[in-house]
Amino acid sequence: MKVALIGVGQAGGKVTERLARFDADMGFGAVQGALAVNSAEADLQSLEFVDTQLIGADRVNGHGVGGDNELGTEVMQSDIQQVLGSLDGRVTSSAEAIFVVAGLGGGTGSGGAPVLVHHLQQVYDVPVYALGILPGRNEGALYQANAGRSLKTLIREADSTLLVDNDAWHEQGESVEGAFETINERIAKRVGLLFASGEAVDGVGESVVDSSEVINTLRAGGVAALGYATEVASEDSAENIRTAMSVSRQALLTGTSLPDATTADSALLVIAGDPDRIPRKGVERARRWLEDETGSMQVRGGDFPLDSDRLGALVLLGGAERSDRVQQFMNRAREAKRAREEEQTDHAAAFADDRLEDLF
Ligand code: GDP
Repeated sequence: MKVALIGVGQAGGKVTERLARFDADMGFGAVQGALAVNSAEADLQSLEFVDTQLIGADRVNGHGVGGDNELGTEVMQSDIQQVLGSLDGRVTSSAEAIFVVAGLGGGTGSGGAPVLVHHLQQVYDVPVYALGILPGRNEGALYQANAGRSLKTLIREADSTLLVDNDAWHEQGESVEGAFETINERIAKRVGLLFASGEAVDGVGESVVDSSEVINTLRAGGVAALGYATEVASEDSAENIRTAMSVSRQALLTGTSLPDATTADSALLVIAGDPDRIPRKGVERARRWLEDETGSMQVRGGDFPLDSDRLGALVLLGGAERSDRVQQFMNRAREAKRAREEEQTDHAAAFADDRLEDLF
């Protein structure tokens, strides 16, 4: 699937750069153009592989909006014409979809991404998706509350919002910075493979995936999730049937970007590997298993021929917002918002006393 990428904010820019680099290194050619937009100049300067656009310079002078996502919304609204102008020539007629990438817990990405998606929907005919990063459980209340509002608005504006929970794709015990590196790398590889799977060379696999299958899977709207797992392939075809089942199961149950998201309106199962080792029977069996597990009647499937000694499964879920994880997250965000409101008590109220008059 040919895509144009726009990263908003720090996390959005870093992940966009990773995705563009992975696609170029692998020679897939799915990423047609990549732009990073931010109100913090320093964050843009650290990017090397994507074009950049500064916004909000008149308001925040290149220093970013802090964690103020309402200000993030405002600066994107004010400078939307420059951003759309920077996209000229990047969202060429060849892009089949646009992905707006952002960390939902911060300021610029959290507030700016929904505005950008809204305007892109007016200008372009292709689907506009969001790739949103949810703050981990241990990130503070402001991040949770910001992400809740951003997600709510993105769901309204985007054709689908693919979520990656910051608690999902890293090992326990890593430092925050180390964890970000790991997560970003995994997003680049997994989402990069999803883009590339719709680009597979005709005639190499038996049933290659077409970009329309990705788009149809996401047509359900709402929340999307992506799962991935691999195992070493075998010379023995019966063994590979078991491996195809096993990697599909792991991709959905333990390798997903949104843990516990297993109920979905639609799904796409891509089995990647050496075409001679992709077992037809195993793919079909895994597809039926996925149908049962997700409760979806619309499970598409296909191969992604790849020069590798491993078999991998990539599972894309569409319409996955009924998952416990999304509900838990929205509760966390609501609770964080309530706690913050309580914190912001009116301190002057403690001094309200009719017997003492204010001086002026
Ligand atoms: P912004 O620049 O104001 O949009 O703010 P950030 O992009 O820093 O967004 C903050 C949120 O994104 C928080 O939930 C962070 O944990 C998360 N975040 C920041 N940088 C990264 C990163 O490189 N990778 C990942 N996965 N998350 C990040």
